[in-house]
Amino acid sequence: MLVYNSQNHRKQELETIEPGKIRMYVCGPTVYDQIHIGNARTFLSFDVIRRYLMYKGYNVTFAQNLTDVDDKIINRANEEGRSAAEVAEEYSNAFIEQMHRFGILDPDIRPRATREIEAMQEMIQRLIEKEHAYVADNGDVYFSVRSDHQYGILSGRELDQLRAGERVEVNDDKRDPFDFALWKAAKPGEPSWPSPWGDGRPGWHTECCAMIHRYLGTPIDIHGGGQDLVFPHHENETAQAMCAWDHALANYWMHTGMLRVNGDKMSKSLGNFFTLKEILDKYPADAVRLLMLQTHYRSALDFQTDQLDGAVGTLERLRTCVKNLRWAAKNAPEDGNLTDADRALAKASSEAQAEFCRQMDDDFNTAGGLAAIFELVTAANKYLAEAGETIATSVTLRAADTISELAGVLGITLDAVESELPAELVDLARERAGYAGADPEEAAEVLLAARQEARKAKDWGTADAIRDGITALGLVVEDTAAGARLSRA
Ligand code: AMP
Ligand code: ZN
Repeated sequence: MLVYNSQNHRKQELETIEPGKIRMYVCGPTVYDQIHIGNARTFLSFDVIRRYLMYKGYNVTFAQNLTDVDDKIINRANEEGRSAAEVAEEYSNAFIEQMHRFGILDPDIRPRATREIEAMQEMIQRLIEKEHAYVADNGDVYFSVRSDHQYGILSGRELDQLRAGERVEVNDDKRDPFDFALWKAAKPGEPSWPSPWGDGRPGWHTECCAMIHRYLGTPIDIHGGGQDLVFPHHENETAQAMCAWDHALANYWMHTGMLRVNGDKMSKSLGNFFTLKEILDKYPADAVRLLMLQTHYRSALDFQTDQLDGAVGTLERLRTCVKNLRWAAKNAPEDGNLTDADRALAKASSEAQAEFCRQMDDDFNTAGGLAAIFELVTAANKYLAEAGETIATSVTLRAADTISELAGVLGITLDAVESELPAELVDLARERAGYAGADPEEAAEVLLAARQEARKAKDWGTADAIRDGITALGLVVEDTAAGARLSRA
């Protein structure tokens, strides 16, 4: 399977450090506000990458930090007259809540910067001892970029070229403008921790590197984040690892393309800035996933808000197809001899599965993977429309399972998690048809059979009473080729 490694700008065969195992880290958010849909795109991409690796049989250990001490958090806390810890707590919880709503799997390890100060100090101490870092007069500790002859290895930038264009914090305490803070001396009113170099707090680049080392061990297999993190964040992460422990931080660096909205960079002033929460308050998570996954993770994604309704329709089409297949299979007689149409559907299922994996094996091409699913849906709908009475149960179920399983690898749920039918149906069936069970699906069948019976006996009163009871629950009787069923109106 091929993975694009941004360190050398090409797709490489995936070779893991330990056979069958993958250790993976994706930089988490700075928790000072609700995350936006650009952040969400990055987290979604890595969720799907992780899910596919698991589907391929890898044992994946996934870590993601929360950056819970940072200038942005401190600024917000000061504006609102509360502590940085309170702000960080609120938005850490908000982040985790929105990730759950978006169907993102929890990381196996979720370290928080403020609880990992010791690991960071150990790393900084090591860098000082190896003369890759120095304590400046202002109490900050800086990493010396000139001491790392490989600096620039990830982003392909050379220090002397950087000088011209790159914006860096100018600061007289640094020996070189590109030196970056490993430890920031405490300022009044800011959170701080004691250290051998005086009270202070860790720098952002230091955090991830120390946490990776502590929780996953270095090097790891895959390190990910958005494209904007390549420089300086990831460049600085890898420089620290190389200098502290004499090996690379990660073997594969993966970066997602930036999300834009309706053709523009997302910004509050343009009025095209959306938090993930705002979008999920209006649209089902799986529809948003479907829309985002139609673009390859490395490409820039132009999020067109007017395509969201279309995505809801596409999701519905997928769910209806699976539902219809299961329904038809349930009501079909035992398999007889397979017809040409049955064999064609069986072949379409195997092909969809193989094509899905071919596409995903090619650097996680989710757009190609989705196309393989859609193709099977088209074949299945055709089969259902044409097969009439001669449904082959095994073939039909296999198509439903394949569509549902492949969508599941993308974190999209197609099979109803619980019965869509209300529990009140059980009472109605008890009252009208003497039903003694407790399953709404079964109650629906009993009611429909009783209604059919009453109609056959020309007992219109009973038939109408059953129908009225059903309608009162917000349901309709749907007549399909495979028989009548109840669904939400
Ligand atoms: P931050 O909290 O700013 O560190 O961002 C969290 C993650 O979201 C990082 O991996 C960023 O690279 C990523 N990210 C930020 N903006 C965008 C965007 N517009 N599109 C895609 N990913 C983004
Ligand atoms: Zn990071």
